[in-house]
This record gives sequence, structure tokens and C-alpha cells, in this order.
Amino acid sequence: MLHHRDRSQTPACGSGSVHALRLEKVTKVFGRAGREIRALDEVSLVIPRGTFTALMGPSGSGKSTLLYCAIGLETPTSGSLWIGDTQIDGLDEAQLTSLRRARVGFVSQSFNLVPALTVAENILLPRRLAQLPEDRAWCEEIIARVGLRDRVRHFPSQLSGGQQQRVAIARALVTRPDAVLADEPTGSLDTFMAKEILMQLRACVDETAQTVVMVTHDPVAASFADTVLFLADGQVVDRADAPTAARVAELMTGLDTSVRCR
Ligand code: ADP
Ligand code: MG
Repeated sequence: MLHHRDRSQTPACGSGSVHALRLEKVTKVFGRAGREIRALDEVSLVIPRGTFTALMGPSGSGKSTLLYCAIGLETPTSGSLWIGDTQIDGLDEAQLTSLRRARVGFVSQSFNLVPALTVAENILLPRRLAQLPEDRAWCEEIIARVGLRDRVRHFPSQLSGGQQQRVAIARALVTRPDAVLADEPTGSLDTFMAKEILMQLRACVDETAQTVVMVTHDPVAASFADTVLFLADGQVVDRADAPTAARVAELMTGLDTSVRCR
């Protein structure tokens, strides 16, 4: 009954590993036999600690599935995954949840805010769940950094899409997680706000040595990253280091052509 005894504990995860996230031959197949969709096809990938990675690729190429699998929100069909030193395939839900709460911030495409909680309460929630001390100064700072100081008492339904997205970003950063994974975190933002958020994510890497993985369709957003990985048909098909927006746009065009030609 070992798995029961350990239910409430955060799995030990040493900080000695050089990778923040690691995937080894991860395959994810959706659907029933005969109508299978191979969302990820034997993806092997190491995301080093303290780096900023952008994930790009056509719609349906497996970007979101990769993020979900990497943090155990989706169970892969086969393959192995690590968050830091902790191998997460095989952990039960309770272990995964406590590991995520302690180490991961996630911005989903649909924001997933709690409708009955105010902006401030939504943002503070992950600290409560992770049983971290309140740290008012940091919470106020993070709220200011995403430009929500005058919205703290509002409810999600009273906010624009862009404002809701900024709540989701603040919520992902509030625990200062080792790894921040964000699915198109600037998709609903205007150019000015997008740049603010990208600089914030950049600062997570440069100032506090956190690790950021961000899905984006925008070459300018991708140019904030250290590395861009390109996905097509559930595989990593290309990468660019120290990318410029122009280089990313060029590679995207090539990818579109090669995907269309298949
Ligand atoms: P992306 O984020 O790159 O647009 P996704 O990871 O969302 O791609 O999806 C990859 C493929 O897996 C797509 O063909 C999508 O339709 C399929 N898919 C994703 N999630 C599910 C699901 N829960 N059930 C069935 N198919 C899914
Ligand atoms: Mg997606």
C-alpha cells in the first residue's frame, strides 16, 4: 500500500538536475482504435533550467498536448517525463497535484479563473493551495506588473479577455514556481501589454533563474525566447537558438510549406 501512504506528500525533487523538464519518447494518442489521433509522436526533449523556450507550429501540431503532458495534466500513452529530478509518469493524482503546486505555474489557453473569486483572490489562490506564507508585498507587485491594480476587487466576468489573461499570468507567477508553462499567454493582449508580459517572463529567467516554456504564434513574442522549437504532426521538427523575429517568421513559412506538401 505504498502509494496510499505517500498520498499527501510532495514527492522529493532534488534541485541538482540541470533540466527543468524532460520528455523521453513521449507519445500521446487520442481517440478510439481506428480513429486515432497521434497528438505527440515519440517526442524527446530536454528543457534546461533557467531558459526561455517558445513552442511554435501549426494548429493541431501538438503544442498544448506537449505542455499538458509535461506537467502531468494529461497522461501520455507511452514514454517518460521528469519535472526536475522527479519522474512523473507513475505518480498518482495527489502526488502530481502537490508537485505542480510546489513547482509549476501554468497559464492555460482558457485561463480557468474561478468565477466566484475576485481578481485578487484568484491570484492569491495558488499560494494558499501550496500553503506558502501570504507575502503581501510580492502579491501587490505581481498585480501591478500585469497592470491589474485597479481591478483587484472585480470578478472574472467583469473583465475583458485580455484582463482575464493577465490574471491567469499573475496567478501562474505568484508562487515563484521553478517552471512557468504558458499556452499562448499573449494571445488576447494588445501589443503594448504583450510586450510587458513577455518582459516579465524574460525577467523570470534572467533575474530569478526560473524556466519558461511558452506556446505562441507570434514571431515577435518568440524572439523573447532563448530557443524556439517548431512542432509539426506531433514531432519537434526544427529549432532556432537566439531567434530574431525575422528568422522565426522565415522558419514558420518553411514549416507551413513543408507541412502542406506532405
Ligand atoms: P495545438 O495546441 O498545437 O493546436 P493540440 O495539442 O491541442 O494542438 O492538439 C493536437 C492534436 O490532438 C489535434 O489533432 C487535436 O485535435 C487532438 N486533441 C487534442 N486534445 C484532444 C482531446 N482531448 N481529445 C481528442 N483529441 C485531442
Ligand atoms: Mg493549443
